[in-house]
This record gives sequence, C-alpha cells and structure tokens, in this order.
Amino acid sequence: MDTEASQAGLLTTIYRKLITGSHILHYHNVLDAYGHLSCRHPFKPDLFIMSRESAPAIISSPADLVHYHISDASPVDPNSPKGFSERHIHSEIYKAYPSLQSVIHSHTDSVIPYTITGIPLRPCSHMAGFLGHWAPVFDIASAYQPSDAKDMLVRNEHLGAALAKCFEYNQTVVLMRGHGFTVVTDSKANAVEECVSRAVYTMRNAAIQTAALTMQAAYARSEGEKALVQPIKYLSPQEAEAAQGMSTWSVGRPWGLWVREVEACGFYINSA
Ligand SMILES: [Zn+2]
Repeated sequence: MDTEASQAGLLTTIYRKLITGSHILHYHNVLDAYGHLSCRHPFKPDLFIMSRESAPAIISSPADLVHYHISDASPVDPNSPKGFSERHIHSEIYKAYPSLQSVIHSHTDSVIPYTITGIPLRPCSHMAGFLGHWAPVFDIASAYQPSDAKDMLVRNEHLGAALAKCFEYNQTVVLMRGHGFTVVTDSKANAVEECVSRAVYTMRNAAIQTAALTMQAAYARSEGEKALVQPIKYLSPQEAEAAQGMSTWSVGRPWGLWVREVEACGFYINSA
C-alpha cells in the first residue's frame, strides 16, 4: 500500500474511533449535551481533531470533525463548522505536552463534589489506578484575567494554559472546580480507546468513593456501629501504578464491549 493510501486508511480509522468514542461517552453518561473528545492528528503532530460544536451523541460522519492547529486552536479550514468554545483545553494540553495523544473534557456529576469540598478524588477501585495518588483540582478563578467572561469556561489560550499546567507531574486526570474534569493519555496505539476508558472509570471511581464516604459517615454517627468504621483504604502508590498497567494492556476488552453496545442500541450513527 502506498503512503497516501495508508495515511487515508489511518485517518478513517481515527475518524471512526472519535465518533464511536463520543457515542460511548454519551451511552455511559460521561458526556451529556456538553463535553468533548479529541486526538492528536496521527501524522501531523501540530494538529488535533475534534468534533464541531454539537452534542457528542449525534455526531455521525467525518463532516462533523474539524482539524485544528495546536498553536492557537484555529481551524485548518477557515470554512469549518463552528467549534466548541472550550477547544483551548485541548490545544493547550497538546501544546504543553507533545507526548499526549488524546484528551476528553467532561461535566459528569459524580466528580463535581470532589472539585468543591477539598476531599481529594483518589483511586478506590483497581480500574482507576491511573488516578495515581490523587487528582489535582484546577480553580479557574486563579487564572482569570479582567477581560475574561468568568463563566467557568476555558474560553481562551491563557485559561487553557493554566489548566494544562496542572498536568505537569504526569497526572492523567485534573478536576475543574464547579465544572468537571479533563483526562489525557499518551498512548499512541490506543489513544482514543484508553482516553475513553479513563473517562468512564474516573466517573465510576468518583461514585464508588462517594458511596464509601457516605457509608462511613452514616456508621460514624451510630453509637452501636462507629467502632466498626475504618479509614478508607485507597490503592497504594504501588498498587495504583500496577493497576494502571493492567488497564492499559486490557483496554481492548471494554472498548470492544462498548463499541457493540452503541452499535446495537439503534440510537447512534457512525458513517465514517
Ligand atoms: Zn466544560
């Protein structure tokens, strides 16, 4: 196969994964009408690809995907459909970390309490070892400039750069105060698959941790039961690192299941 044909095939594969990945994130309640998935261009590393401004569940073809310059989040084709106002989250992360290959930004409810209480989101489940010790919280108020809208959205380069800085110690997930979270991966072979998996399991880990904290608080109030309450046992750093490796090598299993779910349910269309 000549280079041009092989690159075209690779791009089609990426388009298909970005569309299906968006559907999976909606099916699993990581994204609703808001939020977005992107990946670095497979052979033009100064570009990234993400959907036009749309609910992720209803994108359906390559015409819904836009190529952007990482330098300033401007579209390569000036006639591209309107893009997300928060695409600077993606451009500034790719700019700051050339190794990163895929980014997801989500508003899912289960993580929000960990962005506003000071209680750190930590890995409780073996499927969330990629959280490391804990997920840092980005408070956008620390980055506003007088001209910013202050509507909590990462609307420009300096707000995106401030968020990107929170990934500087190799974190995979950064929470965003009163807003949601952003997750990344440096996987080249399975960039979209791994980023989608991390987003799903970040959401599930938050629900598990909240359930544990709620049970603990209820028992601690009971005279008869409080002696039973122990501090929550999070994954140790060694367990988190090993569990992250496990979820990386096994990512094809959940991905295969999730692709079949969105293909079979009849709601989503992927014509890529
Ligand atoms: Zn957002």
